[in-house]
Amino acid sequence: MQALPQSPASSDGIGRVRVSLATGGFSLETIVEVPRGDVAEHEVVPALGLIADSIVSAASRGLDVSCRPGCGACCRQLVPVSLPELRHITAVWAARGDADEIAARRDHAQRRLRDNGLAGAVSGMTALDAREMASLARRYMDLGIACPFLVDERCTIHDQRPLSCREYAVTTPPEECARPGRRLVRRVPLPFSLSGVVRRNASEPGWRSLICPPSHIDEELRSRAATWLRRLLGAA
Ligand code: SF4
Ligand code: SF4
Repeated sequence: MQALPQSPASSDGIGRVRVSLATGGFSLETIVEVPRGDVAEHEVVPALGLIADSIVSAASRGLDVSCRPGCGACCRQLVPVSLPELRHITAVWAARGDADEIAARRDHAQRRLRDNGLAGAVSGMTALDAREMASLARRYMDLGIACPFLVDERCTIHDQRPLSCREYAVTTPPEECARPGRRLVRRVPLPFSLSGVVRRNASEPGWRSLICPPSHIDEELRSRAATWLRRLLGAA
């Protein structure tokens, strides 16, 4: 993987980085916009989202993808995110006019988890291995807890949604997504999981839950966006 600064100065504080990904038989070249100068790790997350969209779009070519706006059965799953993503989404959330409503939905979700004995496992999911994560994901989906960002079955942070949400594209009918345990959902086969690559290469690796905001947000190192992207995509 390469991430090379592409454009010199622009007056709007935006720079461009050329990203080349190659793995197995898959390759992708794209240019993403990033803030110029030294930035915190979470500030390159929007660029990662665009890279994830490009990967999913290339992998979906020729397939009949079922996902449509207003289709939200998948938004009742455990959504694993990396710490940079969680920091980015928390900042997006704090800046919104409906931040209090989102917090109320998040509190409701956390209450449901507490009532069902899953709160500890979800807030401490960084420590879980793959088998424990799979088991937690099944128990979580059985509860049917809607994501705090879901309103009228639509994602209200669609442009900023987590990488794992972007990677969840399916070719089976949407009704299958609403039936936990039946395992009839067929996903678009991706060359690799960008969300997993970012989770492993973040400064503080590991999965977090989308509904557990980070306890600290302002202790991050700052570096060039191309440097962060090289680091975060290093093993792709
Ligand atoms: S994953 Fe399933 S529920 Fe989610 S948008 Fe796609 S088809 Fe709809
Ligand atoms: S962030 Fe958006 S797409 Fe992801 S689970 Fe929540 S509502 Fe659904």
